[in-house]
Amino acid sequence: MSTPLPTLPSAPAVGGGCSDAEVLKERGQREVFCGLTGIIWLHRKMQDAFFLIVGSRTCAHLMQSAAGVMIFAEPRFGTAIIDERDLAGMADLHDELDRVVDTLLERRPEIRTLFLVGSCPSEVIKLDLNRAAERLQARRDDGRMILSYSGSGIETTFTEGEDSCLESMVPRLPASTVASGAEATASDAPELLVVGTVADIVEDQFRRLFQQLGIGPVRFFPPRRSRTLPPVGPNTKVLLAQPWMHRTVEALARRGATHLPAPFPLGAEGTTGWLRAAADAWGVDEGLFDEVVAAPRARARTAVARHRERLEGKRIFFFPDSQIELPMSRFLFEELGMPPVEVGTPYLHRSLMEAELPRIPEGTRISEGQDVERQLDRCRADAPDVVVCGLGLANPLEAEGITTKWAIELVFSPIHGYEQAGDLAELFARPVTRRSLLRV
Ligand code: SF4
Repeated sequence: MSTPLPTLPSAPAVGGGCSDAEVLKERGQREVFCGLTGIIWLHRKMQDAFFLIVGSRTCAHLMQSAAGVMIFAEPRFGTAIIDERDLAGMADLHDELDRVVDTLLERRPEIRTLFLVGSCPSEVIKLDLNRAAERLQARRDDGRMILSYSGSGIETTFTEGEDSCLESMVPRLPASTVASGAEATASDAPELLVVGTVADIVEDQFRRLFQQLGIGPVRFFPPRRSRTLPPVGPNTKVLLAQPWMHRTVEALARRGATHLPAPFPLGAEGTTGWLRAAADAWGVDEGLFDEVVAAPRARARTAVARHRERLEGKRIFFFPDSQIELPMSRFLFEELGMPPVEVGTPYLHRSLMEAELPRIPEGTRISEGQDVERQLDRCRADAPDVVVCGLGLANPLEAEGITTKWAIELVFSPIHGYEQAGDLAELFARPVTRRSLLRV
């Protein structure tokens, strides 16, 4: 017996949404993690990679407190502490880095890719990590890959670390080819590349759906094994799982790949739109598409609907954090009836948001960058029901009686796809429930 689809409450009319909305651009003090934090999810995904932060004690403390749990496991990241040096000491610094890398790789044969991750101290900025990686690579012939990227708080915010990391891998991706006789020639059969780290369980669910739709070959970037690099070429179609992949998409485009514009796979409708973008590119029959997505989409709608009563009508305000804010506000508005008041994002890359902006209701204040004091003033004046913000702002706002949701959970939790849609809605229902219990 088939379960009837729950009716998705209709979203308020959105007109052209926020496609042409004027964006409030701010360039003041920011309250956001640096790009080093991306190592926390990248090291879990690429299980044979090691991240060597070339940094200060501050970087080591950040990583240890942000990813403290790792001290109980064999860590796959570490910090080479660079102390103050004058220019005369810089030559020694290269020798020291070489020594650290040699010791590490000797001791840990399972490491297949080593990332040298740059940070803020002036000594590190003076050190050319790209050249150091090239030098270290040239000295080895054991098939290991040595790359570098910046996670510095001066150059990157929170999720930009992942973008820089993947961008550094793009030049090493093999060209997609097909064997023709004795020669390999460029392949013209389309291949799907899903870009952005998602939890393994989510990756497996997406693989199954693509397979049922007849879409393939499908590869994920970053891969689980850092040496199983996906090929790229003019036949590669890129579908973004995460919205912070601006530079990686540009680097893939330089290798000939094409970006498929799509909403991000958050909630029942975002996931359907995301799969449909790939299905359209592969010419999948409409009937087959509906048949494949019907059951998981219905499950997702039911799971989300359980939280709607608690959340509907609650006005939400986003401080900028990860760049997931616009897709998230679209999900909350369309599927839970939560009107956004302000959606702050660290960067707005319109080319990646063209399927999202029209679905954000007209009149929403969209801000890019941050001037934290001014934004706090706007937030207090707006008096939203829920505020999504970083850890540093959450406690003071809670003390003022404002309900908050930690933005970091939206990055660290598996939230993509149909089967996670209910959990995603619950992430927002929980603080609202907690606040109402406190009031009782
Ligand atoms: Fe290290 Fe700079 Fe990040 Fe601080 S902001 S932890 S110094 S990279």
